Amino acid sequence: MCRHVAYLGPEVQLRTLLRDPPHALHRQSWAPRRQKHGTVNADGFGVGWYAPGDPVPARYRRPGPIWADLGFTDLSRVVRTSALLAAVRDATAPGPDQEAAAAPFASERWLFSHNGAVRGWPGSLSALVDSLPPAELLTLEARNDSALVWALVRHRLADGDDGPTALADTVLEVAEAAPTSRLNLLLTDGETITATAWGDTLWYRSEPGRSTVVASEPYDDDPYWCEVPDRTLLAASRTDVLLTPLKEPTA
Ligand code: GLN
Repeated sequence: MCRHVAYLGPEVQLRTLLRDPPHALHRQSWAPRRQKHGTVNADGFGVGWYAPGDPVPARYRRPGPIWADLGFTDLSRVVRTSALLAAVRDATAPGPDQEAAAAPFASERWLFSHNGAVRGWPGSLSALVDSLPPAELLTLEARNDSALVWALVRHRLADGDDGPTALADTVLEVAEAAPTSRLNLLLTDGETITATAWGDTLWYRSEPGRSTVVASEPYDDDPYWCEVPDRTLLAASRTDVLLTPLKEPTA
């Protein structure tokens, strides 16, 4: 399993969220505290962030561990943002795609990450794959389960679904096709954060009207972190956080 984090709030240096806190994503890459599956998240990392006046985010992704990347040390000091999504990866299966398989995945204003694994992939999702237009399969960002889940979400967003509907419906259809999958999804457009808790840990910390952080696990011991129950959809903005139970598909 990977670890991921998204933020909306006042402009901060990337390092304020990703490196400086005692249990920031940087440290979670070798010493996560609450990860339920896997140990070290060293198979790539990525950060996507929004710059003022530009709705389309920039990404910096690399195939190796975040702790070994000196470029990221510099970037995280000089880049400032008021919205980001970042992830460190523990690959479920070996694959050739390296950096391309590291979240966040992106399309137009959206950034996306998947913390988990699709059981029986790719065979278990063949009916869902068949439902996608060939052009969307040819533009898969990578050949792994998360890139396919992202293609399913992206397809729903392109059809006009909002973030919460796209994530909830994708989780339910994938869980039905591939039961016992772990599907913690995280999506932002720089104004909202949508996430699901489905098989691994999810937390948030909100200062209403100021900032919202949604993360696989708390990056410090601040008592204001709240744990999201499993099987839940989280929909957040800078002002509020809404939790809605997700119903397990019946077999
Ligand atoms: N299954 C995804 C991958 O292989 C996500 C991995 C994870 O959550 N560790 O990249």
